[in-house]
Amino acid sequence: MNATGPTEYQCPVCAAVLALRCEPGVFVWACDRCGGLLMSVAVLRMIAEDDWSRELWSATADSPPASSACPECGRAMVAAQVGPRTAPVAMDVCRGCLLVWLSAGMIERIPQKPPTPPKEEMSQRSREALAALQVKMIADRYSKQEDQDSRLRWISRVLRIILRIISLRV
Ligand SMILES: [Zn+2]
Ligand SMILES: [Zn+2]
Repeated sequence: MNATGPTEYQCPVCAAVLALRCEPGVFVWACDRCGGLLMSVAVLRMIAEDDWSRELWSATADSPPASSACPECGRAMVAAQVGPRTAPVAMDVCRGCLLVWLSAGMIERIPQKPPTPPKEEMSQRSREALAALQVKMIADRYSKQEDQDSRLRWISRVLRIILRIISLRV
């Protein structure tokens, strides 16, 4: 597959030209006419639960041919199904091009990867303690200096450090 895009892919179902949609780090091709979505296996793996992605990929090994042709290579895709037999998520996959075609509404049925937990924010108290410590270190260093210029420089430096620490995000 041509990862550089945008490629004039045609919808494998209704033959409309697919529109390239970019999100940061992710791009998919969407059919405005039938609502289908074409994406790389890599993008699907970013969205879907890991177990589910593995199950999908192993399902493609012995899936029957789909009626749709791969928009990239033109060969028949395979009709893979994942999930319970009563309500499987169905999609067409080209194993050669690593492309997945999801018909309208299918993406909502894919079990999504849990969001990565937000990094613990440094508490206000630790930030203030860190600021106080740095201020003390600078104060110790400059405590013996008598002249006015040094003192002013010292104060502005301390202020900068406090501002930085207070707004610090880790
Ligand atoms: Zn379409
Ligand atoms: Zn293909």
